Amino acid sequence: MTEHTAASPFPGEVAQLGEGVYAYVQADGGWCLNNAGIVVGDGGTVLVDTAATEWRARMLHEAVRTVSRRPVAFVVNTHSHGDHTFGNAEFAGEATVIAHERAAADMAAHGLALTGLWPDVAWGNIRLRLPDLTFSARMALPSIGPRIELLHFGPGHTAGDTVVWLPDQRVLFTGDLVFSGVTPFILMGSLSGTLRLLDRLRALEPLHVVPGHGPVGGPELLDLDAGYLRWIRGLARSAVAEGVTPLDVARSVGTGPYSRLLDSERLVGNLIRACAEERGLAPAAPLDVRAAFEEMVTFNGGLPRCGA
Ligand SMILES: [Zn+2]
Repeated sequence: MTEHTAASPFPGEVAQLGEGVYAYVQADGGWCLNNAGIVVGDGGTVLVDTAATEWRARMLHEAVRTVSRRPVAFVVNTHSHGDHTFGNAEFAGEATVIAHERAAADMAAHGLALTGLWPDVAWGNIRLRLPDLTFSARMALPSIGPRIELLHFGPGHTAGDTVVWLPDQRVLFTGDLVFSGVTPFILMGSLSGTLRLLDRLRALEPLHVVPGHGPVGGPELLDLDAGYLRWIRGLARSAVAEGVTPLDVARSVGTGPYSRLLDSERLVGNLIRACAEERGLAPAAPLDVRAAFEEMVTFNGGLPRCGA
């Protein structure tokens, strides 16, 4: 096994949310420390997202085996980002990988580029494993037991987000449409789209919300993120009206009432997307993400910590 030498040596923890339904939570939920979901039925196991590094994907696989010895029949990627997808190859031999069609296209386009942002992370021998199956609006997974619905409601965190909804247990795996105790991040998606999506997710009336990062909660997580995004929208409207750059807004306002959230430097990236939308950019239309990340680094006074 690959030695893990990064600063945060803790694998995730499994929490049961219902009959055969588990969240896999990697503390502290900061950059590249994502959550996953495990759904066990008589017909096999469904895994919602994988992990960023070879070691973390193996730890996730071991965690899956603690709740079921049945093979992983399906891996659902909630979106294209590497912390949720780089571990797909760990399950290559047994699972069919499913994602939204835009997520699959983005995974193919961006490859392993995320590793270049944090070259010191112990990524291990990760290989790109693209989805085998894609969908456009909604998809019911072939039955393994519990009903599992894959839903796409338009651009949000990215252009191709999927939420995984278990209507009988009322468990919602949101991917990075929702963060918990961690700053939301819409640079590659849409502010207006995410706000609209949060309304759609609230209408499902979930009992448990498993966010893409941070502790599991209930529907209050949707409201907390919506509050943050409305704050960003207000700042962006003023910035565009006054001709102030996103970085200057961030420097003058600071992280305000949201300074307790992890990865607060995302404020700059979120303002870049929000200001572009205020000027008429279509949701999830391409932006210079690398340049925006550099502005976040500038605001942060250095590279943000990646715990992967
Ligand atoms: Zn993401």
